[in-house]
Amino acid sequence: MVHQTLDTDLLILGSGGAGLFAALHAHKADPSLSITVAVKGLLGKCGCTRMVQGGYNVALAKEDSIERHFMDTIEGGKWLPDQDLAWKLVTLAIERIRELENELGCFFDRNPDGTVHQKAFAGQTFDRTVHKGDLTGIEIINRLAEQVWARKINRLEEFRAVELIKNKTNSAIAGVLFIDMRTGEYALVRAKAVLLATGGGPTMYKYHTPSGDKTCDGLAMALRAGLPLRDMEMVQFHPTGLLAGTQTRMTGTVLEEGLRGAGGYLLNGAKERFMPKYDAKAERATRDFVSRAMFTEMRRGSTSPNGGLFISMSHLGREKVARDFKGMVERCADCGFDLAGGLVEVVPTAHYLMGGVEFAPDCSTELRGLFVAGEDAGGVHGANRLGGNGVANSTVFGAVAGDVMAEWVRKEDLKEADAASVENALSSCEAPFKANTGTLEPLRERLYEVMWQKVGIIRDDAGLRSALSELNALEEELQGTGVADGNRAFNLTWHDWLNLKSLVQTSRAIATAALARTDSRGAHFREDYPETGPLEDSFFIRSRLKDGKLETSTRPVAFTRVKPGQTLLKDAA
Ligand SMILES: Cc1cc2nc3c(=O)[nH]c(=O)nc-3n(C[C@H](O)[C@H](O)[C@H](O)COP(=O)(O)OP(=O)(O)OC[C@H]3O[C@@H](n4cnc5c(N)ncnc54)[C@H](O)[C@@H]3O)c2cc1C
Repeated sequence: MVHQTLDTDLLILGSGGAGLFAALHAHKADPSLSITVAVKGLLGKCGCTRMVQGGYNVALAKEDSIERHFMDTIEGGKWLPDQDLAWKLVTLAIERIRELENELGCFFDRNPDGTVHQKAFAGQTFDRTVHKGDLTGIEIINRLAEQVWARKINRLEEFRAVELIKNKTNSAIAGVLFIDMRTGEYALVRAKAVLLATGGGPTMYKYHTPSGDKTCDGLAMALRAGLPLRDMEMVQFHPTGLLAGTQTRMTGTVLEEGLRGAGGYLLNGAKERFMPKYDAKAERATRDFVSRAMFTEMRRGSTSPNGGLFISMSHLGREKVARDFKGMVERCADCGFDLAGGLVEVVPTAHYLMGGVEFAPDCSTELRGLFVAGEDAGGVHGANRLGGNGVANSTVFGAVAGDVMAEWVRKEDLKEADAASVENALSSCEAPFKANTGTLEPLRERLYEVMWQKVGIIRDDAGLRSALSELNALEEELQGTGVADGNRAFNLTWHDWLNLKSLVQTSRAIATAALARTDSRGAHFREDYPETGPLEDSFFIRSRLKDGKLETSTRPVAFTRVKPGQTLLKDAA
């Protein structure tokens, strides 16, 4: 039963860069609005925006331009991004970075002449990544959280969204069903507008970087609500995840790209450097390319003790490495590795979902009253996200959503929630208490393995089909695996069960889209279809759950600003 019903004008799911920017902008537009941020963790302490190390892409320098940032984003995304979304990203990033510095109080690193320091990041033709050392995300989220705390914005923390609830006629969103994790009780929050900003996050892979609170709940809820998702086959792997054995959560965490940028070597199990035989740029090739070469080496069986490869920095000089990569050296030392003088085990690690809910440049979705921003939203990055465009994406579109939703709720009333949908959602959350108690760990391990082996860096038809049937079996087994009932306050096994459900459902969407895309592009590589095909015929894959079945279709990319072979750069034309 629903223990508590709350009403609010504007409900925001998630407190990353997207959620907090939306809250602040909506409040600024109309301080009299009732704004509620509901979050699975603690506000300011969870999600991936806090984990941002590298920085924020924005065209600030005189010699740079929004056209250049735009072209880098489109070419990096292999001509798959929605160009109107990408244009909004690069233009509004300038406003947001100024707001972060001048209104919200972020301190970013500066040059001796007082200008903001911008560093190089892979895939960009200009050094445009603004940062605060390598702790940029902490600076951004701390300042955003302080500003939210200082305002009359309601907070529901450790409050997990479990279903989007529509009105009786199925024509609009009426609210969201939650589990209050502190008590285990259900709550229904009705709202005139809802923002989905739960941050995606490919945590269904054996090796992954995102925070543990992210289990694709938002994407799974969107699928179950019948919304179209796009580009779900596009999963970004970061080449150098730390590999320190199964007993530590440090495995999978990122060793920064700068190590390769500075001249680090990747070695196989025989301690031989292999990247030069794959690409002239060797270790400095793009993330997708390096990850693929690494996976190929690993498949050949030449691996490190834990089944990965090695990174070696010692040829650059122990003192230099210790000085330039202090944080990374310490992280490796914590796991028993000597980065400055020895070898460190690494493995490609799932980092980011380019795919997400289809949305318009004003953040609206197909479902009236539902908006989306940040990593839950699809279409901004296409087949590849540039490092530094992730946090720009969440802050830019979070702010847009806040502005638009504040205006939107003026004309809207609260809607009555469809009682049958609430009942269905409740019974689906209660399912594990009705089944015989079992163990979730083996199911999680199987999910990790199937996604890593068959829906990961290198894919093919047979592997994807076999993965889909394993995912279907996993979903069924999960349904039959019970959780002991009793005290439901912080019942983490129950939440693990719900996490797995979201992950399996989203994994099926990834595998289905990957099967539907019979070419190779950016992060998606099909061994049986290695060619990219003509860029001018670019299409994206739309996935939608209909009558319990995932359907895919293709949609042409609209080249609204520039066509393949053209550029917006005047000096290059
Ligand atoms: C280690 C790491 C380093 C990165 N470095 C960079 C970088 O240098 N530059 C860059 O541009 N990008 C980087 N990224 C990517 C970037 O962090 C993300 O793209 C971006 O922060 C996503 O913002 P978001 O607001 O969409 O989601 P997040 O910041 O992840 O926030 C999601 C929020 O949703 C909440 N949530 C989840 N499920 C539920 C639920 N069911 N109910 C309620 N709340 C829920 C979470 O608790 C969290 O508060 C990095 C990512 C990682 C993991």
